[in-house]
Amino acid sequence: MDFYAVFLIAFFSMCPDLDIFYGGIKEGGLEKLDEDFQHHYFSIAHYPIVYTPFIILFIISLIFNFYPLYFIIPVIGIYFGHFLLDTIACGDGIMWGKNPFKKDKYARFINICYSKTDGYHGFYWEARYRQTFMCKISNIAVLISAVIIQIFHIFETFRMFPVPTYNVFYLFILIYLLVMLYFGLQKSPEEFQKEPKKGRYSDYRIDPRYINGLSEKNRRKHLEKYSALLNNNRAI
Ligand SMILES: [Zn+2]
Repeated sequence: MDFYAVFLIAFFSMCPDLDIFYGGIKEGGLEKLDEDFQHHYFSIAHYPIVYTPFIILFIISLIFNFYPLYFIIPVIGIYFGHFLLDTIACGDGIMWGKNPFKKDKYARFINICYSKTDGYHGFYWEARYRQTFMCKISNIAVLISAVIIQIFHIFETFRMFPVPTYNVFYLFILIYLLVMLYFGLQKSPEEFQKEPKKGRYSDYRIDPRYINGLSEKNRRKHLEKYSALLNNNRAI
């Protein structure tokens, strides 16, 4: 159960970002996705409320004591493995309160630790994110996880002695972690270190559609928070 759980948590934690492939198909190639691809803003896969059925299923499994440890897997993967990290470590943050059924209604973005990356998107975001403390910590965490999993695997193999069984799932998890580490350690091209052509904060912060889609109270807070930016852009 342990290794399947780790594998499944890793799988579910990637799910919200599958919208990148959808975006890639729509644009005719992943390389064509530029700073306008702001999936935290417009993609339904990045609205946490969409995944609440997994929470409900987990609660039901808990009430009936029907394998709750299995049912908690998607909840951990999606909410803790993805949305929590997106809330902490990315410039846009996440609209936790966005109702996916109301097209033009928006919620406030919740973002923490964003000062270096906010307002940047796509490769420009990536170039800055790589320099953050959070990125370095995640690379170290991935490396430590890969080492722990290997030690555990060796330990398991010895435990099964004299009939050592090789479990291919350990290999999958190791490959996944190494691929993550490889991409995590890549250096961004020079051109993306510069300021984007459209400028920083060319996003929901100044988009009238987003601002008008906020509730009265949230609009007031938004206008207050970004008053200097909005005055500069004269967007509204
Ligand atoms: Zn994401």
